[in-house]
Amino acid sequence: MLIDSPYFPDELEALPGLLAGAGFEPDALLATHADFDHLLGRLAFPGLALGLGEPSVERLHREPGAAQRDLRDHDEQFYVERPAPLALGQVQGLPVPGSVELGSEELELHPADGHTSDGLAVMARWCGVLCAGDYLSGVEIPMVSPGGALADYRATLARLAPLVEAADTVVPGHGAPNGRDTALRILDEDMDYLDALERGDERPTLPKGRDAREQRSIHERNMDVIRSA
Ligand SMILES: [Zn+2]
Repeated sequence: MLIDSPYFPDELEALPGLLAGAGFEPDALLATHADFDHLLGRLAFPGLALGLGEPSVERLHREPGAAQRDLRDHDEQFYVERPAPLALGQVQGLPVPGSVELGSEELELHPADGHTSDGLAVMARWCGVLCAGDYLSGVEIPMVSPGGALADYRATLARLAPLVEAADTVVPGHGAPNGRDTALRILDEDMDYLDALERGDERPTLPKGRDAREQRSIHERNMDVIRSA
């Protein structure tokens, strides 16, 4: 199961060979949420169907063409050219909470909204891996997108906490995988950040390593989303 996707065409092109070299041949794609940068798996594996949580399928129907537009905008910004536009093909909606079978094992799908209106986290309990989507990143502060909500973000972190406790490795959508202890530290920092956001701090102390200029501008955008909520 390939969960989410890289962004740059070179990465997508290299992915099948890289995975094959490590002994993996995915036979299904799964995206944690419907933001464009998580939906690109079919550009690497055009023959595979994309699985999405039902809230993500509903979001795609509510915002037709939005993912393709966002991808075009980012590609323009980074001078990225692609051999073909993004076609999501046949999308398979999955109940969340729920589970999907993977061979003889089971992937648990847990609700993870707040960053956006949709979202799921994938727990592979038998191998101790939690794929958190756009939560628990070591490089990005919590981002409450338009459509997301602070209270939902908090609830998702509370839901993720016992999953992190039960995991050996937490794989965020952005940044490197982390061990349990680091992921728990990030979770605490994120709770503190959400408190500051809720208080409306203009210049909160951001977590170490996530306090550069881009993170400040994410905070400003978060403040705009909170104010207009
Ligand atoms: Zn996202």
